[in-house]
Amino acid sequence: MPENPTLPGRLVVISAPSGAGKTTIARAMLERFPSLSFSVSATTRSRRAGEVEGRDYVFLSKPEFQRRIDVREFVEWEEIYGNYYGTLKAEIDRAVRERRDLLFDIDVKGGLSIKRQYPGALLIFIRPPTIDALRQRLQARKTEDASTLARRMERVGMEIELGLSYDHTCINDDLDRAVAEVQQIVKSYLTT
Ligand code: ADP
Ligand code: 5GP
Repeated sequence: MPENPTLPGRLVVISAPSGAGKTTIARAMLERFPSLSFSVSATTRSRRAGEVEGRDYVFLSKPEFQRRIDVREFVEWEEIYGNYYGTLKAEIDRAVRERRDLLFDIDVKGGLSIKRQYPGALLIFIRPPTIDALRQRLQARKTEDASTLARRMERVGMEIELGLSYDHTCINDDLDRAVAEVQQIVKSYLTT
């Protein structure tokens, strides 16, 4: 990355309001671009069915997360929906060591923080076609109860507003179309 000579790889950040489809699209990018590896964040939220420790997240207790904040193990961290989420410096170090590109699935504030620290990073914001579609997708995913779903919906306005500063915005109406669009954006970033 030209702006930061110590970082040989490239950084791709995908952000979106919860339920807009960023995890689905991020997985599709990992399948399509072998040089990309997923930046495994730490979180204090509880593990969902199907999530694997160390693959999807490093799951930490709040005191342990706080301890790691204190010893400066995070590149960035945020409190979201009452839990902590953060990018570990170790993930960036690993990418440098293994000379890999990194894909981040993090929130808008985290994405903007990565861009401040690594200006060559690519920021892609995924928008749902409508707020109603977003609510329906979150309900269909069946991972949230009514109160956590409401908390996720409360944040949408702020996320869409901050997402305006991203390099690209993609509307996830039809999944195949959205995947093709994001693939094109990532391809031109990785090859130029
Ligand atoms: P996020 O990571 O942004 O919270 P997910 O990728 O988990 O979102 O997607 C939320 C739900 O919506 C999932 O059940 C997913 O299968 C579904 N989904 C994703 N994209 C679409 C789409 N274009 N149309 C309909 N459902 C979608
Ligand atoms: P979820 O609980 O649905 O996995 O994630 C909730 C939100 O936290 C999503 O917007 C997700 O992108 C974000 N997130 C996950 N990891 C990180 C991280 O390391 N840093 C930041 N800032 N946000 C994160």
